Amino acid sequence: MSEQCTRDCSSCSLNCPSKNGGIPKDEANKGSNVKNVIAIVSGKGGVGKSLVTSMLAVHLSRNGYRVGILDADVTGPSIPKAFGVYDDVEGNGDGAMLPPMTATGIKIMSVNLMLEDETRPVVWRGSLISGTVRQFWTDTAWGDLDYLLIDCPPGTGDVPLTVFQSLPIDGCVIVSSPQELVSMIVKKAANMADMMKVPVLGLVENMSFVKCPDCGKEIKIFGESHIEDIAEEFGYDLLAKIPIDTEVASYVDKGWIEMIKCDYLEAAADMVAKKCESGK
Ligand code: ADP
Repeated sequence: MSEQCTRDCSSCSLNCPSKNGGIPKDEANKGSNVKNVIAIVSGKGGVGKSLVTSMLAVHLSRNGYRVGILDADVTGPSIPKAFGVYDDVEGNGDGAMLPPMTATGIKIMSVNLMLEDETRPVVWRGSLISGTVRQFWTDTAWGDLDYLLIDCPPGTGDVPLTVFQSLPIDGCVIVSSPQELVSMIVKKAANMADMMKVPVLGLVENMSFVKCPDCGKEIKIFGESHIEDIAEEFGYDLLAKIPIDTEVASYVDKGWIEMIKCDYLEAAADMVAKKCESGK
């Protein structure tokens, strides 16, 4: 990104890589051959962006695709924990980092795999965060991947925007929860994608409802969902609506996300793959 970045590629006359959705793919490490880079974004934190990233990765991998996750949520990295991966990042002997692998072969790169104590907070300035994320792309030997999913920092402020601009993103998925402000939050994330000229592959609504274990009634804890209207307003596909599910929470806490049986994001993963393959 240029020092004179106006944060609005549509009206900017500078010629910088951000205009084409971040740095070029060929700035990747020579040990990497990544076909599709998909960012998972949210207008705010805690809505389940990391969960959606992890579950999409699991379903894509179950469908036979080679998948990696770049954990760009540097100050709140939760991907290694969800997969129960605690290996140190090692070098490949050629100056690049080798991403540790999960039990089913998903490659992961996260700042948490580099900290001596994973409970230590990462109190870094934005430029250091985006530089680190950029290095996760340029200095990691990802090998051959069909999909690299990016768990982006939450929000649409300076740090998420810079991270978004630092990577060669082909498409993004917006995650939200059913709340009053959702329209505005989705709009901000959509505008960010628009400014970067990154296609939105669809919306995922998380925590849509909770199912009563006794009578099966769906209780809408955060109120009525308006996600269908929002999807229609923006012309996006609604990829999935995920309930609050205590089993999901406990599998994440135990690092067992790959063993999860629920199929909340199976169709969404199929749709993402279909869109990427058809170039939409
Ligand atoms: P974000 O990445 O948006 O900050 P996370 O994916 O880390 O959010 O989710 C926050 C917490 O909520 C995690 O502990 C996660 O396991 C839990 N969680 C997210 N979605 C669900 C869900 N649908 N059901 C149960 N727990 C969930």
